[in-house]
Amino acid sequence: MSCAIQQSKVLVLNKSWIALGVTTLERAISKVASSYSDGTPKARIVDPINDFRSFDWSDWTKMRPKEGERGIKSVNFILRVPEVIQFTRYDKMPARKIHYNRRTIYLRDNNQCQYCSSKTELSLDHIIPRCQGGLTTWENVVVACIKCNLKKAGRTPQEAGMKLLKVPSRPKSNVFVTTIKVKSWEAFLGEAYWMTELDHDHD
Ligand SMILES: [Zn+2]
Repeated sequence: MSCAIQQSKVLVLNKSWIALGVTTLERAISKVASSYSDGTPKARIVDPINDFRSFDWSDWTKMRPKEGERGIKSVNFILRVPEVIQFTRYDKMPARKIHYNRRTIYLRDNNQCQYCSSKTELSLDHIIPRCQGGLTTWENVVVACIKCNLKKAGRTPQEAGMKLLKVPSRPKSNVFVTTIKVKSWEAFLGEAYWMTELDHDHD
């Protein structure tokens, strides 16, 4: 597998075609290749360009990529790269709550300093500084470049005469697309979709 392919992400749907998040190609394939005790595969590959038909692993491996489609080179043949999989039994809804962490703050703030729009040398800033009792919450932490962070120091934006690009808040729904743009995902995602990487198994 080429490096770019290995790093590609696969959209994961629950049984009711609702997007749960993204996962790595490797994890997606292992899910599709594994089965419940009665032989039902845990997930199937959804083909977004063929009427969303879904395939089990053995049928998928019989297909070859068409011109322009990405492929995985195996020993003897080239496989199409799955872009969407669907769990066969898992029917829960995606988690509604987006967890606060460094990565999700950067995503929310578009990897951009919320004072000067710079996209380099970024750090996190407590709007009301911790020394003034400011909390580490969605509403009080923004991405700021090191320059702005130093300039603001232990002051509020008002005290420092600085203005935020927007009022920070907790993201509304569960997912939004990162930098990944996969055409076939559009059918399953709204425009501003907050996308979480699935880091645990759904069985
Ligand atoms: Zn800045």
